[in-house]
Amino acid sequence: MTITPIDCLQCGAEYTYIGAGPHGAECPDCGSTCVSPVGELRITDNDYWSVANGTGELRVHTVDEHERSFEFRIGFQKNRGTLTTITIDGTSVLAKHCSAGWSIAELLNESLERYGITLLTNPMKSDMTSIQRL
Ligand SMILES: [Zn+2]
Repeated sequence: MTITPIDCLQCGAEYTYIGAGPHGAECPDCGSTCVSPVGELRITDNDYWSVANGTGELRVHTVDEHERSFEFRIGFQKNRGTLTTITIDGTSVLAKHCSAGWSIAELLNESLERYGITLLTNPMKSDMTSIQRL
């Protein structure tokens, strides 16, 4: 038996899925599908652009074991990046409005390094008391 902790990015619900199979990928509180990945995320692609002054954007496309797509959008200025948006199966949540925190540094490290981004700000799970939706 496996117990999987899951967070919902939209309402902040934390729940656990108990069982061996993949979880339903849907928040029991608000029905949002913006919940934690099932299993490990795997990077499928990177999109990158920058302009001459060092400002740009990196998008890291990943999928979970359910083949759900997770896109992490990182705006950067030279070597300083900030996670701005997470898009899960087409639903975008601003990172600073996320009510759950995920540690994504390890996942994104390789992509960040490849493009010379050495500092990453992850604004997820800020101390907001109210929940904001897009
Ligand atoms: Zn929810």
